[in-house]
Amino acid sequence: MLGAPGAGKGTQAEKISKKFEIPHISTGDILRKEIREGTGPGLKAKEYVESGKLVPDELVVDIIENSIKGDKAGKGFLMDGFPRNIAQAKIFSDMLDRIGSGLDKVINIVVGSDEIIERLGKRRVCNKCQQISGIGEGQDGVCAKCGGKLIKRRDDEEDVIRHRLQVYKEETSPLTEYYKERGVLANVRGTGSEEEVTERILENI
Ligand code: AMP
Repeated sequence: MLGAPGAGKGTQAEKISKKFEIPHISTGDILRKEIREGTGPGLKAKEYVESGKLVPDELVVDIIENSIKGDKAGKGFLMDGFPRNIAQAKIFSDMLDRIGSGLDKVINIVVGSDEIIERLGKRRVCNKCQQISGIGEGQDGVCAKCGGKLIKRRDDEEDVIRHRLQVYKEETSPLTEYYKERGVLANVRGTGSEEEVTERILENI
């Protein structure tokens, strides 16, 4: 699943992976968990994630290798947030060859930059269950799912958002051309209701 920060990758990846009963592997979620738990990889990743930079490829590749080996890879899986640059895409391709798997489809969720900035500024996350909400969803800053407190991610602060969008433009967006050339890219409009976007994705897979 490709798309700018705030395009709705995580939300859609959750729905699609549930529907097909396959693991949803989000490098962002894994990194945030490692940071919360203060693990070795978490300590290394913290500064990058909080300032909106890409974490070094080696760190992310280790995480992906651990996530796709063993049973988890049996029925396939959905990647969210990886690869994030051409070097990672090449490493990923080799990794898939090694486990005898392949990439069926790359869904690129397309949302204009004005809407992205508005969405990210309003995004809140539950400090207990990590559920994402927009402002105004959930009551008085309380998570509708578990009652935890809704907080703003450090990397959703305006200065960091701008940097993340720049990183996306320079490092991640060339992947659309890369996957288009390989015949696996589907561009899907990411505006409208969550259900509408899910329907558009399903039409492509
Ligand atoms: P996300 O939740 O996908 O927006 O990711 C949040 C942050 O985690 C990014 O801004 C990066 O700092 C880091 N991150 C996630 N995935 C990757 C990746 N594949 N390569 C490098 N950094 C990543």
